[in-house]
Amino acid sequence: MKITQIDVFAKNLPMVSGYNMSSSTVGDPDTTVVALRTDTKLTGWGEICPTGPLPQVEHAGSIRADLDLLGPALIGADPLRIGLIHDVMAATMDGGQGARSAVDIACWDLLGKVHNERVCDLLGGARMDPVSTYHVVPIGTPDGSAQLAEQLQEEGHTKLQLKSGGRHIDEDIDAVHAVAKVIRPGVDLFVDCNRGWTVGEAIQVSRACRDLKFDMEQPCATYAECATARTHLHHPLVLDESATDLATIARAISTGVADGFGMKLTRIGGISGMRAVRDLCEASNTPTSCDDSWGGDIIAAACVHVGATLTPRLSRGAWISAPYQAGHYDEEHGPRIVSGMIAVPPGPGLGITIPEGLFGPPIASFS
Ligand SMILES: [Mg+2]
Repeated sequence: MKITQIDVFAKNLPMVSGYNMSSSTVGDPDTTVVALRTDTKLTGWGEICPTGPLPQVEHAGSIRADLDLLGPALIGADPLRIGLIHDVMAATMDGGQGARSAVDIACWDLLGKVHNERVCDLLGGARMDPVSTYHVVPIGTPDGSAQLAEQLQEEGHTKLQLKSGGRHIDEDIDAVHAVAKVIRPGVDLFVDCNRGWTVGEAIQVSRACRDLKFDMEQPCATYAECATARTHLHHPLVLDESATDLATIARAISTGVADGFGMKLTRIGGISGMRAVRDLCEASNTPTSCDDSWGGDIIAAACVHVGATLTPRLSRGAWISAPYQAGHYDEEHGPRIVSGMIAVPPGPGLGITIPEGLFGPPIASFS
């Protein structure tokens, strides 16, 4: 098989409910969709959608500029030889992990379609279907956050992530106490600061909440700061934004800095990169999630397919942004959450059917 044309599309994803983090409020993310056209009738679909210029290092503009470099280089390459596709991309540019990830996802979609297999089956098979997810409790008042936490547990959610940071830590401490108080047996709580605390603040929050059960996710801005805080914390430390590549993840595991990961698929090289993280975490008995920062049905399907193959007891859940945004690309099989779980799309590849013309004319095309 050969790639004959690559189309790049831009799409606004309208929000239907609020979502905030310590660094930013998410507003109508701008997603980038990649279509790999081939010398067969098959098309592979990939996607990458940062929430905005914060808190990721890449944004829609930088990703599209990267695709301008990668697109011409990939014409004529065989999308089923995914390792060789990564070689072509690595020989074209340094960086550009987001754009490379979108291409990787599209290649896996094609591989599944050619062999009439789901992506999760190409990855070794679904160990969970439906797949557990976690739901975010955005930054809010202690009472409001506790009320939402109760409602989500009522709906069947067994993993909740409370956002924190960006305000005085006393407010965070009050919110953590209020939410932890309503957490039911068997439900996991993660407190995700998205890099919002200093080392001292992270230690103070952990001390003030030392008898409460939760994981502390990415409390500080950098790997070094998280590592410094780690030895003083009373809670397991989960790295997200600082888990930038496989070597860093391996170091965080081997040095005891990280007790788990909140992994973003398009930060680590797409489905291929996330497969490596999955295997490393399984070998080292380390929990991980399988997420992305944002995106439509293509990203959601990629997260659910890989998330289904995680060892269940080490899974921190597969997160999708569907609850916060309007509509689906594929109204029938676009991933959605039902009682805290997400069914794996049943069709070959990612299992998502994209109607031609859905995204309007491409913003770039290479052939
Ligand atoms: Mg996180």
